Amino acid sequence: MVLVLVEHDGPEVDELSLQALALARELATGEPVTALLVGGGGREAAAALAAHGVGTAHIAEDERLTEYAPGAWATSVIELVDRLEPSAVVAAGTNRGNEVLGHVAARMDQPFAANCIQVAGEGPLEVTRMRWGGSLLEEARLHGDPALLSVAPHAVAALAVDGADAPAIEAFTPTLDDADLLVQVAEHVSTETSGVSLAEAKVIVSGGRGVGSAEGFGILEELAGLLGGAVGCSRVVTSSGWRPHTDQVGQTGTKVSPDLYIACGISGATQHIAGCKGAKKILAINSDAEAPIMASADYAVIGDLTEVVPAVTAELRKAGGP
Ligand code: FAD
Repeated sequence: MVLVLVEHDGPEVDELSLQALALARELATGEPVTALLVGGGGREAAAALAAHGVGTAHIAEDERLTEYAPGAWATSVIELVDRLEPSAVVAAGTNRGNEVLGHVAARMDQPFAANCIQVAGEGPLEVTRMRWGGSLLEEARLHGDPALLSVAPHAVAALAVDGADAPAIEAFTPTLDDADLLVQVAEHVSTETSGVSLAEAKVIVSGGRGVGSAEGFGILEELAGLLGGAVGCSRVVTSSGWRPHTDQVGQTGTKVSPDLYIACGISGATQHIAGCKGAKKILAINSDAEAPIMASADYAVIGDLTEVVPAVTAELRKAGGP
């Protein structure tokens, strides 16, 4: 049996967990796939899992699990592992999935392979995993009982099937102690974003050091607004305090997959490309024709962004917008 830690926001299952379920089904090769959901809304969220091959959904219930606590989630996983003895435990390669399986691995003294994109064989598993923000694919053998692995975001498509019965629900209360709750989410603060988020945007107008200042982003915001898109940036920009970290695209920022990514004054370091290579098309606006971004760009305008960006905006306005 393969056990999958499924993340959910109330009754909504996280898309990345559905992708993890797809890989788990491949790995299970006919064996049952069982889910673990932690926290409020787990029962409602579990109903959506039938179409993703889940036969039984275990719901860890305790009022102390309402807010995310990695130690408590790990205890819930370990209790189920002890009881069900799965051959593998799979999670989505999210911050939470990787954090919880990291705790599980340390406490069970087992190896853990994060950000896998492919799995084959049985004991030891042959895994292909993403390293260095996706710029390197590593093939490794994963020994472990159970095998602990997470699935790299957007590397595997979620696969739904029609007509499956709703999973059986089995609720349990994990035995938690104070140490499990030493780290716990205390407060949710929403960031003030106007318009579309980076993750959802179909067009992203992103700026780098070449933009020159926080104020310099005004022309990028104008263009993004006109295209119904969002503004992103490179790490130099967030380190300089010109934009908040939530706008950063890259290995240590958000990974985006818009239809069009307009990179203005961004050199194209591998850590930045790791975040935007999922874009369908990349347009680079850069004064240096030799900038590394040219290797990833589908289109390029070689020029000063302070002239090119307003010119594009003016043309769009003339044409009456997209
Ligand atoms: P630069 O590399 O300085 O490039 C500026 C570009 O602007 C140049 O190509 C220049 O030709 C062009 N330019 C200048 N003036 C103009 C103008 N007027 N008009 C048009 N073009 C102009 N970086 C990220 O972005 N995201 C990450 O998540 C990230 N994570 C990292 C993680 C690690 C562990 C490390 C070590 C680094 C990480 N970095 C990340 C940093 C990354 O290596 C680069 O330093 C950074 O991406 C460079 O930012 P930039 O392209 O804005 O600046």
